[in-house]
Amino acid sequence: MQRFTDVDLSAWTTLGVPARARELLVLEEEADLARWRERREAAPMPELVLGGGSNVVFLEDFAGRVVRLATRGRELLAEDDAARLVRAAAGEPWDGFVRWCVAQGWGGLENLAAIPGSVGAVPVQNVGAYGLEVGERIAWVEGVERDTGLAWRLPAAECGFGYRTSRFKARESAFMVITAVTFRLPRNEPPRLDYPDLQRRFAGLGQDVSPAEVYAAVAEIRARKLPDPRVQGNVGSFFKNPVVSPEVAERLAAHHPELPRHALPDGRVKLAAGWMIERCGLKGVREGGAAVHERQALVLCNAGGAKGADFLALARRVRETVAERFGVRLEVEPVLVGCEGVVQPLA
Ligand SMILES: Cc1cc2nc3c(=O)[nH]c(=O)nc-3n(C[C@H](O)[C@H](O)[C@H](O)COP(=O)(O)OP(=O)(O)OC[C@H]3O[C@@H](n4cnc5c(N)ncnc54)[C@H](O)[C@@H]3O)c2cc1C
Repeated sequence: MQRFTDVDLSAWTTLGVPARARELLVLEEEADLARWRERREAAPMPELVLGGGSNVVFLEDFAGRVVRLATRGRELLAEDDAARLVRAAAGEPWDGFVRWCVAQGWGGLENLAAIPGSVGAVPVQNVGAYGLEVGERIAWVEGVERDTGLAWRLPAAECGFGYRTSRFKARESAFMVITAVTFRLPRNEPPRLDYPDLQRRFAGLGQDVSPAEVYAAVAEIRARKLPDPRVQGNVGSFFKNPVVSPEVAERLAAHHPELPRHALPDGRVKLAAGWMIERCGLKGVREGGAAVHERQALVLCNAGGAKGADFLALARRVRETVAERFGVRLEVEPVLVGCEGVVQPLA
């Protein structure tokens, strides 16, 4: 376990805003969990678990301990004719893990190519992209209770997975830590190509597309569409796509026929937040060093020297403008962290 005090967190998050933490622990092996518990008991303070820091916004200095999960390890647990069970430690970089699976010829996760962050964080907001949510591929999640060190294991059905949420993001983020995730990768499922960008890319090829080809296509499309956080700090989408009732969607469609809408299996309708933000003329708009990205309106980025408070001010401005124009309230996607810990929802 590595321990640092009075740490600048800007290098530990993809947004790169300055914020100090009283202490940072980096857990590199399973036994470090016990060392962390000893440290908690010796010096209690607010705590935040961190993976790759790609979905966290520090709004100010954090008067506590940041605990970064950096444990590694991945293995094939079992396989039969229908599926493979593959387990990875929480600290494994997500994209490296997906690439490793694809390189073994194991399909199932390739639609989630090139998403920053760690394996341990993917269940937290049920990471999703290009027509797949990771919860569909999770067999179970393992972890420990922070206070007691008690180990637990939850099957996917008990993880409360929903659109960009789970029980770990909502109710239990303060006392559960995820230590490993086991994925069930189907062996006989056709590639998931229903997302429009992928449909276009593979038009005419039917099912004859390999996981490696899907991985490469998704990675290439993402690189073209999304700003690279190493070049311009960001946390991906800053807002969730709002989900509304069919009545609200119809009312909106009457006034804005081009508003992209996606019917969900439960009858509700998902609306494109980026389209609404763009229609409000907010692309490129700034508050301090935080800016709405020029090409991708759903992304707020660090245009240089941004502070956490700039992102808060910009997020509020975007949310109020969209609410005035469309009557729809946008929800922030990343985790907002104040002085004492998580402060969501955005007030
Ligand atoms: C360029 C870019 C593109 C992105 N694209 C997508 C996308 O397509 N789809 C998508 O869903 N997300 C996307 N994201 C958001 C982000 O990458 C994911 O949410 C990712 O899973 C976060 O992983 P992380 O390790 O960086 O988590 P962090 O940002 O470190 O943490 C996020 C939350 O998870 C908690 N957490 C982290 N690890 C653990 C653990 N082991 N146990 C318990 N809690 C934990 C943290 O406390 C925090 O609340 C994108 C981000 C960027 C920068």
